[in-house]
Amino acid sequence: MANRQLSPEELAQANVLLSEIRTKLETLSHGDRELLFAYRRKVFKELTYDERSKPMVRRKLKDQKWKEQRGLCAICGKELPERYAVLDRLIAAVGYTKPNTRLIHQECDAKHQEAKGYV
Ligand SMILES: [Zn+2]
Repeated sequence: MANRQLSPEELAQANVLLSEIRTKLETLSHGDRELLFAYRRKVFKELTYDERSKPMVRRKLKDQKWKEQRGLCAICGKELPERYAVLDRLIAAVGYTKPNTRLIHQECDAKHQEAKGYV
């Protein structure tokens, strides 16, 4: 399923919001470059967690999926490497939940993305 795209009006609103956030970050940091960096990094990290869940949640899910799939790729059925297997969301907006994810090879993920026209 393709990810929801913003309409031109929604995109314009998102850009206004982004501009407001940038202005607030500048105001909060009072020209202190180090402080601006720290605020920006904090907001970035938290928004990333909103979209991708915290690393501990993904790590636990990866272990569960590994056991559930017996260490085999959900696309090609071959053995997965111990590290660098991809926890793939079936529907990105649903997030990292057990029924919405599968563990696959990086190569299988790249081929799958390409086939869907994401690259
Ligand atoms: Zn594979």
